[in-house]
Amino acid sequence: MQYTPPVFRPPFEESSLLLQAAIGCSHNKCSFCSMYRGVKFQAESLSQIEADLQEVRAKNHIWYKRIFLLGGDAFVLSAERLKAIALKCSEYLPRLENISMYASIMNIKNKSDHELRELVSVKINDLNIGFETALDDMLEYFNKGFTLDEARTQLLRLKEAGINFSLNIIIGAAGSKRYIENARANINFLNEIQPPFIFAGTMHIEKNTTLYDDVLAGNFTECTVGENISEEIELLRGLEMQNTYFYGRHVSNTIPVWGNLPEDKEKMLAYIDEELKFIPEEYLHTIPLKGSEGAH
Ligand code: SF4
Repeated sequence: MQYTPPVFRPPFEESSLLLQAAIGCSHNKCSFCSMYRGVKFQAESLSQIEADLQEVRAKNHIWYKRIFLLGGDAFVLSAERLKAIALKCSEYLPRLENISMYASIMNIKNKSDHELRELVSVKINDLNIGFETALDDMLEYFNKGFTLDEARTQLLRLKEAGINFSLNIIIGAAGSKRYIENARANINFLNEIQPPFIFAGTMHIEKNTTLYDDVLAGNFTECTVGENISEEIELLRGLEMQNTYFYGRHVSNTIPVWGNLPEDKEKMLAYIDEELKFIPEEYLHTIPLKGSEGAH
């Protein structure tokens, strides 16, 4: 299989076949992100993708029901190209049910409603979207490349087309002074959108990012461990979901919680309360350490 480092996938894709559709991220400008710094974005060739699928079949690993297409925002590829990849995947993997990948809001905007429906018909039916925060000024500050209104419009288009998605949010995204404000903005937006899946990670700032420079310059104050936990509690309390899976098991989260909303909400909150009793007070005042972020 052709894998060009660095290779990232969401933690819940651990059982999926990882197939390289793109290398790097076409945007590569988010101020907090170092995942693909220095990596030139390029699409993987269709001939290499087919060679990888042939290798999977040669090993008789044809039981895969799910594929994760690698690339920082593989959904940037044209609908035509994605469709060609998806058809090849189904040709080699007869039990295939879902094809998922990382996507940005801009990638959805660049596809028509008809194209989105066509992609569902070839099993491209799950996206992992880096949304991060429902505070418009923070989206701009992080250089995400979209506004909150654009996110709303594009996510509703996905729902209309029948594409499942995980919405990634970053606890602590607005920093120390605004963590409750961030929680409340996220609550309002998530309650409105009703995403099928929420993936909550925690902000951890790496040295080779512009956000790190901002921290040094005093323009951004990172939340403490305790503030991040308070933000997550506030978020969970305010979420009024009808049928959403909450995945708070990212390695960056001090107290991992997960479950279905609404039914597991009180259980998750009680678990956080219980675990808090075992965390030393002084640790709650420290800045979180970097985790391994699902690196493969
Ligand atoms: S956060 Fe996502 S879209 Fe932004 S630079 Fe990193 S990989 Fe690309």
